[in-house]
Amino acid sequence: MTQLLWLLLPVAALSGWLAARARYRRPHAREARDAASPFLSSRYIRGLNYLLNEQQDKAIEVFVEMVEVDSETVETHIVLGNLFRRRGEVDRAIRIHQNLIARPNLSLVQRQQALLELGKDYMKAGLLDRAESVFNELIKDGARLAEPYRLLREIYEQEKEWQRAIEVSQQQQKASGEDLSSLMAHYHCELGESDLEQGALGAAMEHARAARGLQPASVRGLLLLAEVLRARGDARKAMKLLRAAPEQHPDMVPLLLPVIIEGFRRLGDGEELERWLLRLDERLAVPSVRLARIDLMIEQGRRDEARGLIEESLSQGRYSPALMQRYATLMEHGDAEVPQEFRALVDALARLEEQMPAVRCHQCGFEATQPSWQCPGCHGWDTLKPLDEWQTHPESRRA
Ligand SMILES: [Zn+2]
Repeated sequence: MTQLLWLLLPVAALSGWLAARARYRRPHAREARDAASPFLSSRYIRGLNYLLNEQQDKAIEVFVEMVEVDSETVETHIVLGNLFRRRGEVDRAIRIHQNLIARPNLSLVQRQQALLELGKDYMKAGLLDRAESVFNELIKDGARLAEPYRLLREIYEQEKEWQRAIEVSQQQQKASGEDLSSLMAHYHCELGESDLEQGALGAAMEHARAARGLQPASVRGLLLLAEVLRARGDARKAMKLLRAAPEQHPDMVPLLLPVIIEGFRRLGDGEELERWLLRLDERLAVPSVRLARIDLMIEQGRRDEARGLIEESLSQGRYSPALMQRYATLMEHGDAEVPQEFRALVDALARLEEQMPAVRCHQCGFEATQPSWQCPGCHGWDTLKPLDEWQTHPESRRA
């Protein structure tokens, strides 16, 4: 047992468990006896204080003593198993939790708690099939815990088993009344996108409709529907949907713009694209729209106009690395005498633009240069928002 002294004791493991214990506490012989024992409870509090003061070695010492004094204590074994898991010693965690579950005299709540922890051990060990059956068993047992559902969803998300993820979400909704529509809309989009890739347009359409039915404001559902419509030959109908989207979802404009611009191009509507961008620029005045207008001018060889629009932005105190990069490129163009240093500046600005984060997670702060629907940092859905704001002068910020 002395090896236990080497453990680190994360506060989260214990506090989460204590919260669960408090939630599901029910009268039980052993628990009643523990509560009545001043020895155990004072030790427990001492251990907890060490934890809160981040004196982890001392906290472990206390918990190990507790196990040695009373080897029957279920709760302490659960905590120790969790600590092994947190430290990456998953085999030990599994052994401790398995031994607990094998005990014949566990209360229902204790058994469910030990099972839940065992499922987490399996997950950490990468034994997803076993974890899945443990969580399913808990759900079948009618455990009133949200965690088995959440962890099952996590497994299905990892394995891209979207249909199963939908089913477990429906079960959870039914059991808890929690609204998981936006999550299920994403799962339908995942299914629809892969159907679309395989050319199964009918199935893709069904998933797009299901996603929009679950979450009418889903930008992803809208993009999927537009893609399916276009694949079916209804390009104009798709464009009608897409054109209206930026004003309904101004925070998603950088994500919508490339798709919409591409749509105009496919239809050969270059002039309408320019008019549409101008109107949007007048209403939203965000960098991505202004930049799209400038790029269109540069593409059509209207360099002076592009330069004029950049200078207008700068005079309004609106900067962005992309804007400066276009400006420097325009100045460099056609000038055979451009000094080496200036070319270096143009290159540096291009690299800066590439490295600028395009999205940030409002939940965990994760930043990425590429957008995605699920945050790679915290695995939240719809939490990554495009960064589309001007770098302004401090003076103009005050104005
Ligand atoms: Zn995040």
